[in-house]
Amino acid sequence: MGLAAAAALGRAGRSATVLEQFEFGHDRGSSHGTARIFKVSYPEPQFVRLAQESLVRWRELEDQTGDEILMMTGMLDVGRIEGRREALKECGADFEFLAAAMIVLISQ
Ligand SMILES: Cc1cc2nc3c(=O)[nH]c(=O)nc-3n(C[C@H](O)[C@H](O)[C@H](O)COP(=O)(O)OP(=O)(O)OC[C@H]3O[C@@H](n4cnc5c(N)ncnc54)[C@H](O)[C@@H]3O)c2cc1C
Repeated sequence: MGLAAAAALGRAGRSATVLEQFEFGHDRGSSHGTARIFKVSYPEPQFVRLAQESLVRWRELEDQTGDEILMMTGMLDVGRIEGRREALKECGADFEFLAAAMIVLISQ
């Protein structure tokens, strides 16, 4: 978040200094690893839009660095669906709702 904020300031023509208590690339932040969840499925449209916007930023970062940072593999979000369909529709997100029986079929 600190680096993203500093980068945003840089894009806005401001200078920023980021202070890190550990060494570069350390593994003592919130969470680490090569596989992480990236999703736009939220019941609140503002969070869906935030996630959509962040995807644009990830791709921009990839263009700037020449590295593939975020590889999407598809995702099955299981759980409460209240409000999600409406929020995803409102934000023009690509999604599909599956009934439980369909999920059993797909996983076989
Ligand atoms: C178990 C777990 C799983 C998660 N899984 C996911 C996931 O699948 N998908 C997802 O999107 N999010 C996930 N998250 C959330 C995600 O990890 C955090 O939202 C994100 O890392 C927060 O980034 P950050 O930069 O705010 O904090 P951090 O990544 O914690 O970075 C904070 C940095 O500040 C430094 N710092 C702290 N205090 C000081 C100080 N006083 N002086 C100098 N430096 C300091 C720390 O050393 C650290 O490098 C997960 C979180 C956890 C705990």
